[in-house]
Amino acid sequence: MPAEANEFQADVLAIAAHRDDVEQTCGGTLLRMAARGLRTAILDLTKGEAGTRGTAADRAREAEEAARVLGAGWRQALDLPDGAVSNTLENRIAIVRVLRRLRPRVVVLPYWHARHPDHAITATLGSEACFLSGLKKVDAGSEPHRPFKIVYASIYADVRPSFIVDITPFIEQRHQALMAYRSQYADQPAGSGLFVPEEEIRERTFAEARHYGLLAGVRYGEPFVQKEVGLVDDLTLLPVQSI
Ligand SMILES: [Zn+2]
Repeated sequence: MPAEANEFQADVLAIAAHRDDVEQTCGGTLLRMAARGLRTAILDLTKGEAGTRGTAADRAREAEEAARVLGAGWRQALDLPDGAVSNTLENRIAIVRVLRRLRPRVVVLPYWHARHPDHAITATLGSEACFLSGLKKVDAGSEPHRPFKIVYASIYADVRPSFIVDITPFIEQRHQALMAYRSQYADQPAGSGLFVPEEEIRERTFAEARHYGLLAGVRYGEPFVQKEVGLVDDLTLLPVQSI
């Protein structure tokens, strides 16, 4: 069934395992896309019930606030078990339903090698859902939709990015979105052996963005990997100076 005219549809959908993941991996990119007039959306796969700090309800409020800061038009969380995200048919179908509702052209996923198993599994779970979403006979009754492009946010992966998005004008706003998770990041005694102070988070995230920005000749950047080989029309318009 075609989506209703008044239903929100997305140009770019970022899918992540945990609330506060996209703020760290592609928040600046979502801000840049929104500034370009594109409609952005966020799907978190879990609700954060396994976190050391705060409750799932705290995180829901914080995620909503962060989405507002990021200019995302839609954000929801599925209820997959936090710390035990698995690539099952049921979970793929749950994502297919979101893809068919939002009909994004681009999907952002975490890079497929990651320290946290939830992140690694989200990469394969998400890409398989994107494929299945294009098949008419899968979850029949809703109109198939296959996203045109999948890009993998690779900030925490030891891999050379395919491209960088310049987030220089948005770095402070991205930081503000991450800091919306007050239960996680505001300085506090609970879990202080595990969590780093706010100033340290700022320094780390800005340094990472500076590192990736430098690779592309801008101040702050976010790295992505695409599996496809790029296609060039005009050699004289290639970005990023060689020497
Ligand atoms: Zn995470």
